[in-house]
Amino acid sequence: MEKIKLTPKRKEIMELLNFNNLFDVVRYYPYRYDYYHNEKLSMAKHEQRVSFAGIIAKKPLIERISHNRIKTTVILKNEFQECQVIFFNKFKTTNFLIEGKQMIVIGKYNAFINQISASSFMMLDKPIEQKFVPVYSLPTDIKDQTYRSFVSFAIKQTLDYLDDLIPSDLILKYRLISLKEAIQAIHFPTDSESLRQANRYLKYEELLTFCLIGLTKRKMFEKYSAKSPKVIDPTILKDFTSKLPFSLTEDQKEAIREIISDIKSNVSMSRLLQGDVGSGKTIVAIFAMLANYSASYQGAIMAPTDILAKQHYQTISSYLEGLNINLALLVSSMKEKEKREVLEGLKNGSIDIVVGTHAIIQEGVCFAKLGLAIIDEQHRFGVKQRLELKAKGSNVDILYMSATPIPRTLASTVYMDMDVSTIETYPYKERIIETKYLETNSIKQIKKQILDYLKTNQKIYVVCPSIEKSTLDISNVKDIYHKWQNEFKDYNIALLHGKLDSEEKEKIMQDFASGNIQIVISTTVIEVGINILDANMMIIYNAERFGLAQIHQLRGRIARDGKKGYCYLLSNADNSEVFDRLSFIASTNNGFKISEYDLVHRGAGDMLGLAQSGKSPFIISSLLEDYNILKEARKDATMIINNYDKYQKINNHIFMIIHNNEKYVE
Ligand code: ADP
Ligand code: MG
Repeated sequence: MEKIKLTPKRKEIMELLNFNNLFDVVRYYPYRYDYYHNEKLSMAKHEQRVSFAGIIAKKPLIERISHNRIKTTVILKNEFQECQVIFFNKFKTTNFLIEGKQMIVIGKYNAFINQISASSFMMLDKPIEQKFVPVYSLPTDIKDQTYRSFVSFAIKQTLDYLDDLIPSDLILKYRLISLKEAIQAIHFPTDSESLRQANRYLKYEELLTFCLIGLTKRKMFEKYSAKSPKVIDPTILKDFTSKLPFSLTEDQKEAIREIISDIKSNVSMSRLLQGDVGSGKTIVAIFAMLANYSASYQGAIMAPTDILAKQHYQTISSYLEGLNINLALLVSSMKEKEKREVLEGLKNGSIDIVVGTHAIIQEGVCFAKLGLAIIDEQHRFGVKQRLELKAKGSNVDILYMSATPIPRTLASTVYMDMDVSTIETYPYKERIIETKYLETNSIKQIKKQILDYLKTNQKIYVVCPSIEKSTLDISNVKDIYHKWQNEFKDYNIALLHGKLDSEEKEKIMQDFASGNIQIVISTTVIEVGINILDANMMIIYNAERFGLAQIHQLRGRIARDGKKGYCYLLSNADNSEVFDRLSFIASTNNGFKISEYDLVHRGAGDMLGLAQSGKSPFIISSLLEDYNILKEARKDATMIINNYDKYQKINNHIFMIIHNNEKYVE
């Protein structure tokens, strides 16, 4: 495709939405449509959303009803009836609302006073039957109209290059339209049928791609899957169990049984251990390590960050005390000399278990006899890293751990390339966190609760989506820090974000723990590795900017000591999807339900262009509603993979996707 010149505004849009090219623009689908058509209001119920068209019957009235609210009243009339339409803060001028012009509106109908409170409108040259207008999730400073015309432009420019990835025999089999038609119709459907066909195409395409990626990954691992069975010494495990200060839960026992049977078998383990924060995965991982150790193999545990690696190291050393197992830590912040010693120990076999970051799988790290690798937070590691890890030994079993669990029934569908063990029950009673969603981005409504809470000598986390002011209308830690300093003058407040160096961060957290600081205003850096028992309130600004899984992880920082926690989600995003999502997470503390919600709904977080942990892999499909399409897609994907040459184009494309998505997170 030749280079296309974009206007500065369009370049800005590309940047704001993180688009690399015009294909990204056409693949960013509307999250809903305004459906304009002419309804008979006599049939409408009170409070129902209606669409009504007519001519402007007289000069509109514009009035200021409070310092920041302007109300515009328009009378619309058609051949059947007349209706009063009101808008709030919609127009600065009403010059174009001329008597006799055609207008169509969408809004909520008040049947008692025959009035529509309108949310959107269009001026018309001639009457229309029906029209779908796409609505996109956009930063506030991009106007809908500007964006829509950019989308039309992008479709025109890319149309010639939009070739079906779906093989032609499958297009025929399901009577699908073409990708060109689907893209056109998902943005600008002419009627509900064209929208339905566009959805059928794009959902099938997405689910087929998804299945192909999963099955291809599985195939890539199969090459490495044969191994010699390991002989486990059960006495070590029995002794260890009898010395534990608690008894294992049934789910933990089952997970341990599954893992041990994998370790003993002649196929390499590729298993995911999933369970909510605090469900007790670590002890299961330790059992796996012990079993592997008892078979005279080395083990490695990898965490995504230095902090987490150090934490694991400490936990594991305390469990393994007195067992004569040589445990080592390997992280990038260590001195060269210390690192060299660890590398030497791994090579000559004197170290039994190493805990670290991805430094463990770098070149130059050699193991005498690696038998088991455990990867915490599996979504941060790609296939390439997993393969590198396997290549470190000839008999490597891999266990992944994830704290963003999904329901058992969905797990085998979503994780096609691994087996899954699930911990559903908590060892303790569940934590009590009262989460409230406030439709505002200000703390005015809860200031009294905050003050009352601070008076009990407990501490507060405040979380904002960004560090600096940006063009987006979102809170940043610096502004919020100044606001809170003004509002809560009697308390010490600290500012914490990723750009501080680790010494500064540690100092702040120490002061917070000791009570010198009562309020920490932070970005999501507090997501992992922080454990302060008397900080039981969390306030999250612009909560719509976070994925549900991420909010759940964040609030996992509070209510850790059997005390009740309070979490406030602030958001003034005026969007029903946000409303549903935040109301939902306020209603449950169950991590499984939360990830299910993310999976079965179109990934709202994705559409906001957010990086989030545990996000839905689907943009347009819903795992519940589209389960039947998924089943078909899975069969088709198997056929495609088994007939590599016939379906070379799509198979190559899938390899490219897998290849391009392989990145480390440091
Ligand atoms: P996860 O890694 O899944 O978030 P952890 O393994 O850190 O959870 O466990 C959370 C806490 O529960 C730890 O303090 C751990 O010692 C404790 N724990 C784990 N299993 C049990 C059990 N069966 N009975 C009582 N306490 C347990
Ligand atoms: Mg853990």
